[in-house]
Amino acid sequence: MRQLTSRVKEEAHRLGFDLVGVMRIEPLAEDEKRYLDWLRAGMSADMAYLQRRPTLRARPDELVPGARSIISLAVNYYSGEFDEVGPGQGRIARYAWGRDYHEVIPPRLRALVARIEEWIGRKVQARCFVDAVPLLERAVARRAGLGRIGFNSCLITDRFGSWVFLAEILLDVDLMPDEEDSRTCLRALDCINDCPTGAITQHYVVDARRCISYLTIENRGIVERALRPLIGDWLFGCDVCQDVCPHNRRLPKTTWKEFHPQSGVGKTLALDDVLSIESDEAFQHRFRHTALRRAKRRGLLRNAAIVAANQRYEPAIPLLEQLMETDPDPIIRGHAVWALGELAGRRARARIERALEDEHPFVREEARASLER
Ligand code: SF4
Repeated sequence: MRQLTSRVKEEAHRLGFDLVGVMRIEPLAEDEKRYLDWLRAGMSADMAYLQRRPTLRARPDELVPGARSIISLAVNYYSGEFDEVGPGQGRIARYAWGRDYHEVIPPRLRALVARIEEWIGRKVQARCFVDAVPLLERAVARRAGLGRIGFNSCLITDRFGSWVFLAEILLDVDLMPDEEDSRTCLRALDCINDCPTGAITQHYVVDARRCISYLTIENRGIVERALRPLIGDWLFGCDVCQDVCPHNRRLPKTTWKEFHPQSGVGKTLALDDVLSIESDEAFQHRFRHTALRRAKRRGLLRNAAIVAANQRYEPAIPLLEQLMETDPDPIIRGHAVWALGELAGRRARARIERALEDEHPFVREEARASLER
C-alpha cells in the first residue's frame, strides 16, 4: 500500500498537480456539524445546490459506495499581481483570469486513474471531482494534509497560500492516509478587518449573503442597494481577503499556462465592452472556456453597471441609458437605473422618470428610489 501510494503521488506531480494527499474514506463529523449550522443560519443565501442532501457532503462513504480512499489534489493558480485598475475597468478574481479550471483539470484526474488501473491490473471504481462536488472539499484537503483552514474559510497551503484549485478522486483502492493538518490560521485578522462588506462574521465563517464573490458570481438577482457601493471595482469575484492574508506573500507562479491571464479573459475587462454584450448567445461565445460563464449575461452586465457607478465612470452613461430603456432583462434594467442615478444625477432625471412606467416592479422601485435621492 505504501509503495502504491508513493507511485500515485509521484504520478500526480508528474501530471502537474502541485500538492497531493490521501484521506481514508470516513465521515467528516465535525465539519458536518459546522456546515449544517452555517446552512441553518441562512448564510448560504439562495445557493439551493448547497442545501440539497447537505449531510452527504460530509459523508464521502455514502457518496461513492465501496470507495476506500480519497486522493486530494491541489493546483496552484497564482499568476501574478493586478496592474493598476483604472476607471472603466472591472476587476476579475485571479482564479478566473485564465481558462476555466473545470475544463482544464479533469483530463489529468482521469489520466491518474488510468495509471492506477495499469499498476493494479484491474478496473478501478472511481469518481473524479473538481469543485462541482457534493463534498466538503476544503475539509477533505485539510484531512489529507494539504493545508489548514483560514479565518476566511479558504484552504491555506504552505507552498502556494490559498491560491489553489482543489480536486478529488474517490476510489475503491486502499492508499496510505496522510496526517491531517491540525494547525490553526496565523490569526492575523487582516481578512476579517479588510473584507469590504464585513462578510467574515466570525472566525472561519463567511456569510455568503454579504460576500462579493457570491454577490457577483452566484447571485444573479438583485444586489441589495446598501451593498452595491461596497463592491468597488470587482466585476467578477473578489480577492481581498486572500490578497491581505500573510500566508499569501512571495509565492511561486503557477506552471499551468492555462491559468495565465493571456490564456483567458485576463485581469480586468473594459466595462464598455461588457455593457455592450447584446445577447445570451454573444455572452456565451465571448466567455466560452472561461469561469465567467457562471455569472451569465445578466450577472455580468449587472456587475458592470455597479462598477461603473462606483468608479464614477461617466462614459458608461449612454450604454446604461440604452440598457435601462431596451434590455429585456429587468435585473439589468433596474441596476442600470440605479447606476445612472448615481452617475448622472439630475441630468438623467427625465430618463429615469420614464422608468417609473416600466412593466417590472423592481425597475419601478429603483427609479422611485433614485428620484427621491
Ligand atoms: S471574498 Fe471578498 S467579500 Fe468575500 S469574504 Fe473575502 S474579502 Fe470578504
